[in-house]
Amino acid sequence: MEEVDKKQKARAEITVNEKWCKKCGICIAFCPKGVFVADKFGKPIVKYPEQCIKCMLCVVRCPDFAVDVKKLDSE
Ligand code: SF4
Ligand code: SF4
Repeated sequence: MEEVDKKQKARAEITVNEKWCKKCGICIAFCPKGVFVADKFGKPIVKYPEQCIKCMLCVVRCPDFAVDVKKLDSE
């Protein structure tokens, strides 16, 4: 039996709802940690989730409520 009790590196689970996102780039511009990168259409890709400091700026700034940040640890 294996124990799975390791702390993950990623501190948050960040998701972008593709149906709601209008590719305005606000989340990419406001994220202080550069978690997002734009694909060639301007759509944010969650590239560096381990950098996330859970400031929630992307969530509150997204005009279309497309970003969700779930906090994974309880520091
Ligand atoms: S702020 Fe919201 S709508 Fe704009 S690019 Fe980011 S996820 Fe998409
Ligand atoms: S919560 Fe803050 S650090 Fe994390 S992805 Fe959003 S804007 Fe970036």
